[in-house]
Amino acid sequence: MITEHSKLFGFSGAHRWSGDACPGSVLMCLDEPNEDTEESREGDAAHWVCEVMLKAFLERVDHSGVAAGERLLGVANPTNGAIVTEEMIEAAIGYHNSIVQNVTTKSQAAVEFRVAAPSIHAQAYGTADFLYYQSETNTLYVFDFKYGHKALPIFRNKQLMGYAQAACETWGLTDLKPRLCLNLYMPRCFDGRGALRTWNTSYDEIQYDVAQMRLAAQQYEDGTTKVCSGSWCYKCPAGYKCPAIRDAAGYAIDYSYSPVAAEPSNDHIAYELDVAYKAADRLKQRIDMLETRATHKITHGEFIQGYRMDTTYGRDSWSVPAKTVIDIGNLYGADLSKPDVALTPNQAAAALKKKGVDAAVIKPYYSKSKTGVKLVQDDGTRAKLIFSGEKQ
Ligand code: SF4
Repeated sequence: MITEHSKLFGFSGAHRWSGDACPGSVLMCLDEPNEDTEESREGDAAHWVCEVMLKAFLERVDHSGVAAGERLLGVANPTNGAIVTEEMIEAAIGYHNSIVQNVTTKSQAAVEFRVAAPSIHAQAYGTADFLYYQSETNTLYVFDFKYGHKALPIFRNKQLMGYAQAACETWGLTDLKPRLCLNLYMPRCFDGRGALRTWNTSYDEIQYDVAQMRLAAQQYEDGTTKVCSGSWCYKCPAGYKCPAIRDAAGYAIDYSYSPVAAEPSNDHIAYELDVAYKAADRLKQRIDMLETRATHKITHGEFIQGYRMDTTYGRDSWSVPAKTVIDIGNLYGADLSKPDVALTPNQAAAALKKKGVDAAVIKPYYSKSKTGVKLVQDDGTRAKLIFSGEKQ
């Protein structure tokens, strides 16, 4: 999947740089690399499946796109090596189905398509996941697939409005002032409101937000932007060096030391809860940013006093074929099959225990798979244990 996102006014960051959020973040983030994480690699692989399905659908204009995506199960994404899982395929099928039902033969459609909005700024462009314009109804549909777990708001979603504006400018639709059907598909957001979120609006209705984007771009050109912390600081790559979020976190720390009234009034409780939630949010963002920075430095060989990287482990999984496990169980009179595959190590240990057999007999046959590394505080205990020869 080849995507193009502007370093200056990419629409995926429009919630941060436009409106009353933080126009100063454009300058702050300019030289910050977008580092790959396990989460982003998974997201890219899932997007790849969606792209393959929808391209196959558009080429054949039938529902065979699903089969093209299903064939990717277990295949490594060529751009980052992440393996395509069943969950990704299922998510992509849901996304594909929610799109194809409305695409008519008269639709102009595109997958992973670069759109630009020069009316906002020469560098205002991005790659939309899926777009189609239905001429019969003068409606532009914009779809964005999100594989993360965070619930994102659909109403006045700046990323989608940016893509819509840019698609209208790229496809010459601005004079037609089309209806807009903006969609977020979030298959892993389990807040009970379904994976597909839609906001029906119009070209005219988004012009206020588009004007705010233009204003942010103009302020950048004039050198008058300022940084301003808020919920949009989440995952800001410049957070580790940003004075605004550092100050906000400092106020949160000061606040945590302030005395609390013994018998606060109800109004006071409501006010203080609101302040405390906001303070906790800023502090959490600051911690996340510092952790990301510390992780980057330590994994690149730098030393940070009091921190180290620890390997993280997944669940126990068998390191020998299922048949070997089942044979071991039979040897001890325990059925370790399900029935045709081996039980998980924990289930097998419980089954052996039931038979009065020490679960240690299967210990050499399984191990935990490494899932990555994580930053942990280091109080020196581990070093002491190593040098004293004690077991960890
Ligand atoms: S951390 Fe927040 S305040 Fe600082 S540049 Fe990023 S978005 Fe702006």
